[in-house]
Amino acid sequence: MTIDVPQHILDALTDVDMPKLLPEAAATETVNLGGIDVPLYRAGCVVVGSGAAGLRAAVEMKRRGDDVVIVSQSAWGGTSACSGSDKQTLHTANTADQGDNFKAMARAIRAGGAMDEDTAYVEAVGSARMMASLQFLGLPLPQDPLGGTLRYQTDHDEVGRATSCGPRTSRLMVKVLAEEAIRLDIPFFNHTTAAKLLTEGEGDGRRVVGVLAVRLNDRTEANPLGLALFASSVVVLAAGGPGELYRDSVYPNGCFGSLGLALEAGIELVNLTESQFGIGTRREGFPWNLSGTYVQAIPHIYSVDADGTEHHFLAEYYRTTQEMASNIFRKGYQWPFHSTRMLDFGSSLVDLAIYRETAAGRRVFMDFNRNLLPVPGDLPFDLGRLDDDVARYLGNAGAGQDTPIQRLRNMNPLAIELYRRYKVDIAAEPLEFAVNNQHMNGGIMVDVWGRSSLAGCYAIGEAAGTHGVTRPGGAALNAGQVFGTRAAEHIGASGKAKTASAADIRIPAGAALSEVLSVVKPDSSLSVRSIRSEVQARMSDKAGLICDGESVSAALAAARSLNDQIRQNGIAYDRAAEAGRAIQWQQMALASEAVLSALDHFIRNGGGSRGARAICDPKGVSVPLTSSGPLEEYRFRKERDAHRDEQIVVCRRGDVVKIAARANRKFDESAKSFFERDWPAWLTGQIYDLQKNS
Ligand SMILES: Cc1cc2nc3c(=O)[nH]c(=O)nc-3n(C[C@H](O)[C@H](O)[C@H](O)COP(=O)(O)OP(=O)(O)OC[C@H]3O[C@@H](n4cnc5c(N)ncnc54)[C@H](O)[C@@H]3O)c2cc1C
Repeated sequence: MTIDVPQHILDALTDVDMPKLLPEAAATETVNLGGIDVPLYRAGCVVVGSGAAGLRAAVEMKRRGDDVVIVSQSAWGGTSACSGSDKQTLHTANTADQGDNFKAMARAIRAGGAMDEDTAYVEAVGSARMMASLQFLGLPLPQDPLGGTLRYQTDHDEVGRATSCGPRTSRLMVKVLAEEAIRLDIPFFNHTTAAKLLTEGEGDGRRVVGVLAVRLNDRTEANPLGLALFASSVVVLAAGGPGELYRDSVYPNGCFGSLGLALEAGIELVNLTESQFGIGTRREGFPWNLSGTYVQAIPHIYSVDADGTEHHFLAEYYRTTQEMASNIFRKGYQWPFHSTRMLDFGSSLVDLAIYRETAAGRRVFMDFNRNLLPVPGDLPFDLGRLDDDVARYLGNAGAGQDTPIQRLRNMNPLAIELYRRYKVDIAAEPLEFAVNNQHMNGGIMVDVWGRSSLAGCYAIGEAAGTHGVTRPGGAALNAGQVFGTRAAEHIGASGKAKTASAADIRIPAGAALSEVLSVVKPDSSLSVRSIRSEVQARMSDKAGLICDGESVSAALAAARSLNDQIRQNGIAYDRAAEAGRAIQWQQMALASEAVLSALDHFIRNGGGSRGARAICDPKGVSVPLTSSGPLEEYRFRKERDAHRDEQIVVCRRGDVVKIAARANRKFDESAKSFFERDWPAWLTGQIYDLQKNS
């Protein structure tokens, strides 16, 4: 079987053009803050971020008659618009064959622990609607001739709930949602970075009243930083994940997220210990995940040292050529690193081996023109000598061709096309790659409607900490859509965003401005560049996929010291355009302290290896084996079962990061709704629980 897909079809799925934004509305008011006339915009709700999650919330709100505006650092920046993989995945209830069971799906979503059970069910049951509405907007998800959606298996997914439009699923989601936002005439403020949340009130009465932003279009001689105010009764944080936190990263450039912003506003964060790491090409080149068919084609993987000598390093780990080949293949759907998969010669031994090569200063490559070299002394690579699951998959996919590039071309020509678009021809040259940080599973703590701990402030998408320790591939995009819709429904029901806020926000705006001015100090010895390299190096070297208690606690002390220095000296910036970056780096340094605080707390309390992190400890009971013996240096702790039932909550009080734990919220699987009994709660809006924190 060969797939012959015409070039124009491949082009449409890889080169996804974005729509033209409408002209921006001018501010009708200004507020004098510290001598600067700052433009003031008013709205019912400000959505911060224009990724798939933010656009979803904005569109859903506008359709409910709310007064909503979008502010975005970069209209088509962020992970949704700029990231992907061979088949970028959406995880939804299976809509083919025999359908799905939402409760079973919820169990699969929360299988890694530390996840609220009700949230998992919300994501499962909401996924069908999420998918159907995206299809309605024009998302080209592939179908069989009878309308069932084509499916495959992805990581942490034992059933096959994944589907995909190709390498750029999330960009296509952004496109169809943006077209809808434009059609609905939603005001969009591009190149507008939220710098501070404005709040009013104390204790339980504290709530969000707007945003202080820095904005390219408002930069003038009299307002050189481009300060702008947005007054709104509701704010939805949809600013994505903290991609800049790690040096070794497959996030696109310039992803800061909103963890620091939220910490400064006193908002509680959760599960910050949980991130995903896996193989991909880094953001210094073209950041892309190497999951799915890239590895299922079983390319030759090797490293090159400073002298240019090639090393067939994986052969030092696996016992046979068949074992090595089968585990490279399995990285296709066991993509994120997982400590237990380093055991028993599993697929994460591949990640560990690559991590060690890179740490030793060698560059690692995938060569699609060469089959794997054999493990010395063993038989050569042969498609007839693979583990059963691998042979079956390649057989079904018709991937019996002689070379990896032919197999890849047969299984997924878009995978080759995609790199070509970025001037990398993997059919001609080997591809350099590494193990990178890819996703933050934790984030802002929210309830089942996306409400954060600050009244009026919601968080959705990667900004929210809704995932537990692991998540099935594609669950991030699903969660962003489901919670974007849920938050919009809740905001609609609250009535708080029906009209633009008329509040006088001068006092909180003045306080926020003083905080901004205490950070941006042209003559500080700390610069954007120095903070970036310190934070990123610390996070990648001490808090990456491999870490240990001693290094994490030393890293935490260093992170605290950096934040003390920033508080004392501020951050220098070269041009006015860099002032926004200085604020984002100050907030990223805070986020880094929060992540390290949570990790340090976890390890001190006996936390073991889970998700995409191995906690190394000479007293650990697990040790990865290689063909030449145990890797004692990587002996690691096992996960503690009790930690699956709780989540670590982080918040900032004064300049101190506070840590607590809370139990996962439960979901009673035996509870059944009954139409006549439960209908009134829907009709009267009781389901929204509006008394609490709205
Ligand atoms: C390489 C890679 C592959 C991935 N593959 C998958 C996959 O197959 N399936 C899956 O489910 N997930 C995948 N993910 C994760 C998923 O893409 C993201 O979690 C998701 O796209 C996040 O969407 P979002 O809308 O929350 O944020 P983003 O898409 O990152 O959007 C954030 C938005 O906020 C804006 N912004 C940021 N800060 C500010 C600020 N201070 N003020 C104003 N605006 C701001 C940005 O400009 C951007 O518009 C992948 C991630 C990567 C990096």
